[in-house]
Amino acid sequence: MFEDIIKLIKNKYNSENYISLHEPVFRGNEKKYLEECIDSTYVSSVGSFVDKFENLMNDITQTNRTTAVVNGTAALQAGLRLVGVKKNDEVITQALTFVATANAIAYNNAHPIFLDIDLDTMGLSPDAVSDFLEEFGEIREDGCYNKSSGRKISACMPMHTFGFPVHLDELVKVCDLWKIPIVEDAAESLGSEYKGKPTGSYGEVGAFSFNGNKIVTAGAGGAITTNNIKIGERAKFLTTTAKEPGTIEFIHNELGYNFRMPNINAALACAQLEQLPVFLDNKRSLAKDYELFFREKGIKFRTETNNTKANYWLMCVELENKSDYDYFLKHTNDSKVMTRPVWELMFKLPMYNNCQRDSQKNALFLKERIINIPSGVR
Ligand SMILES: *Cc1c(COP(=O)(O)O)cnc(C)c1O
Repeated sequence: MFEDIIKLIKNKYNSENYISLHEPVFRGNEKKYLEECIDSTYVSSVGSFVDKFENLMNDITQTNRTTAVVNGTAALQAGLRLVGVKKNDEVITQALTFVATANAIAYNNAHPIFLDIDLDTMGLSPDAVSDFLEEFGEIREDGCYNKSSGRKISACMPMHTFGFPVHLDELVKVCDLWKIPIVEDAAESLGSEYKGKPTGSYGEVGAFSFNGNKIVTAGAGGAITTNNIKIGERAKFLTTTAKEPGTIEFIHNELGYNFRMPNINAALACAQLEQLPVFLDNKRSLAKDYELFFREKGIKFRTETNNTKANYWLMCVELENKSDYDYFLKHTNDSKVMTRPVWELMFKLPMYNNCQRDSQKNALFLKERIINIPSGVR
């Protein structure tokens, strides 16, 4: 049975070479824009491609103040600070995620609280957040506090796992009720939609990544999105060293970051963003083929949930049986078809094993079953 899977994937990618999970594809204006950028000499921290990139992202995410930054982790780190996360605060997130999500919280000297995911979305569960806050939450004048630690819970950061949106309406409702701002980790979900609106536009702030393995790449890059003009302007200010505007003097009245996306990276990103609709279609058709194939084999292939459109960044199968799971991983990788287990749960990492968490029933269940399969644009 697993022989057929390897054959299918090699056919789909028309290749006998090593097939990775996700590779960048450059079929648009990449070389043209890079050449233009070099000819202009504006390869560094400002330039017209940065502006163009921010405008393209406003359109794609239906938000009105994008700030281009150096990578997705920086977007998350600054995003948390922008909604008011301070030293010793707490931030609710999920344990099934890439380490950058939790690290961004720690970089703000805040503490993650790991709450469970939903089985259908693989992302932060609104019910788990509600249950936790019913038990431990307390609303005070300046926000929500955790009765068990005495600390302020100053943000909630869901992650749209592999591009499948979390239940955003329900999550927004719970977080509004408890006065907790949402920072969406949309690093994996550029182009995904929930009820017809892009991910990254529901929270106070959204954060995107343009790393080489994401659906669209800038080499390295990130973006902070928001509909709140004040937050948007502050995002630009803080990520460009917090230099006071309107003077030729170098005056900095607070601690800013050098998180700027270089113009040369923005040039690459612009050419890639122009192809996003094509990439989305291409991946969607691969997902359709996988779906039909795996259904016949009786293997569960992850498809988008009701009311959502996934970008199918990384596609995955769910294997019930431990020996099938082990065999699938080994056999595919031995046959030059890359497959990969999902990330280790955050509370199992030494930096985060003392953090508060709930039962993690669903995260533990899926950690042992989900395997990513090649998902790149063909
Ligand atoms: C890729 C990714 C990031 C970080 O993005 P970088 O651009 O690599 O810093 C953050 N969170 C998640 C969930 C990611 O997948």
